[in-house]
Amino acid sequence: MSLRQDTSQSSPLRMPEVLEIEWAHGTLMPPPSTMAALEKAADLLRCGRLVAIPTETVYGIAAVANDSDAVERIFVAKGRPAHNPLIVHVADIEGARVLSRRWSDRAEILATHFWPGPLTLVVDRNETLPLNVTAGGSTVAIRCPDQSLTRLLIEMVGQPLAAPSANRSTELSPTCAKHVVEGLGGLVDLILDAGPCQRGIESTVIDTTSDPPFILRPGPIGQSELSQALGVMVDIRLITDVIQPMIQRSPGTGLRHYAPRARVELTVNPSSRLAELLAMGFRVGWLTLSEPSHEQLGTITVLHMPDDPVEFAKVLYDRMHQADECGVDVLLVDRPPEFIEWIAIHDRLARASFSDQTKGFENSSRTSHR
Ligand code: AMP
Ligand code: MG
Repeated sequence: MSLRQDTSQSSPLRMPEVLEIEWAHGTLMPPPSTMAALEKAADLLRCGRLVAIPTETVYGIAAVANDSDAVERIFVAKGRPAHNPLIVHVADIEGARVLSRRWSDRAEILATHFWPGPLTLVVDRNETLPLNVTAGGSTVAIRCPDQSLTRLLIEMVGQPLAAPSANRSTELSPTCAKHVVEGLGGLVDLILDAGPCQRGIESTVIDTTSDPPFILRPGPIGQSELSQALGVMVDIRLITDVIQPMIQRSPGTGLRHYAPRARVELTVNPSSRLAELLAMGFRVGWLTLSEPSHEQLGTITVLHMPDDPVEFAKVLYDRMHQADECGVDVLLVDRPPEFIEWIAIHDRLARASFSDQTKGFENSSRTSHR
């Protein structure tokens, strides 16, 4: 059987195969059913096909990074613009060194400190990588995921895997296999299901080639941890610095990201906004850090959130997926505390709520906003 031939038959309507994988703590090897699932995934990947893989951050849609046709299929499946580069996943630091033309001391320090883990290093790219992986750029983003089965899969394939989040471009990232099925359907050939992701939001991305190093995307590893490891203050651009000028200059230029179908609104005064939205006939959801009153519970979809940033991140996308499942039109989100530990959450919420349609919405009716 030629696995490669079937690729053109990928369709969002076809159901992908989902195989559960596990590795019990303290055991030397995964069980035979898991090894069989990994073998199957490795075969598919070697034949240029797409497999959804678990990581500790979110599920990824993977292809062999050295196979430019397979990488192209990722862009097509996601509807991802060609100018948005992919993260390449490796099994260990050695796998990363060979992808880089100049593996710097800083890259070495960060990899040693934080890998396997939710930190993506942007380094100078080795010329042998296909250009579409890096969107034509001279740097490549690399990560070693803290998911032992995925690292084992990479070793079995014998090549690094390009793997962006396994969702359609701009939509919510998947934090369990069910989200991948719902978001991509048969656009992937196989989904490896290792249960819910431990972190729940995307990795921190740091550019190690700039001086000082620059956090391009905040995530589970914070600015202070990175600065401490490197012994220099790393820089960060906050989402508010990005979004405010964009809104003024060029609304709707791709900043909406990590967004559910429901319209997201951040609020510090949920009660009055809830009443307004209900009066306009919207189905309202509320991601709240507080306990809602009884009257509120009957009329809206309440999704309670933990008040710890790590736990909040872990469930955020799942709650947003739930809001969509409930058919919510508008999702109110309590603005989280303005502390440094919440930066990555603020980033994702700002992007999820970013819209160039804000003006005029206050007075629009339920039927007009979709
Ligand atoms: P995703 O794979 O969906 O988690 O998104 C990957 C993120 O990493 C995107 O924000 C990319 O823009 C970023 N990224 C990937 N490669 C590079 C690179 N070479 N330079 C800068 N950012 C990158
Ligand atoms: Mg993504």
